[in-house]
Amino acid sequence: MSTIFTKIVNGELPSDMLYQDDLVTAFRDINPLAPTHILIVSNKVIPTVNDLTEADEKITGRMMTVAKKLAEQEGIAEDGYRLIINCNAHGGQEVFHLHMHLVGGRPLGPMLYRQKGE
Ligand code: AMP
Repeated sequence: MSTIFTKIVNGELPSDMLYQDDLVTAFRDINPLAPTHILIVSNKVIPTVNDLTEADEKITGRMMTVAKKLAEQEGIAEDGYRLIINCNAHGGQEVFHLHMHLVGGRPLGPMLYRQKGE
């Protein structure tokens, strides 16, 4: 199974890559929604969070620690930032290859907007 992110991980598609190791790769989002918008993706294809197993815990743990390091590197750790993983249709997931968004560099506003009646 291969995705557009597999091509970036393998260097077959250009990206602004910031970090890579044996488990994860991080690169800048092509359509940034904030001054810092980085994607931290699993090197192997895991389509969604629903597909994770306990055997993947090293990958998901690494995604978090890499996010922390990149936030420091970007100079946004102290002010704060948001980590987002979208899952399937209601989550707004577009690329079915596990990835975490690291966004920051400005106040990000409320986490979600209430729908009328919520
Ligand atoms: P999601 O909606 O969580 O699946 O997010 C997918 C993200 O991938 C979006 O923010 C896109 O802008 C981003 N994206 C898609 N193609 C590329 C690419 N070639 N390089 C960097 N980011 C990309």
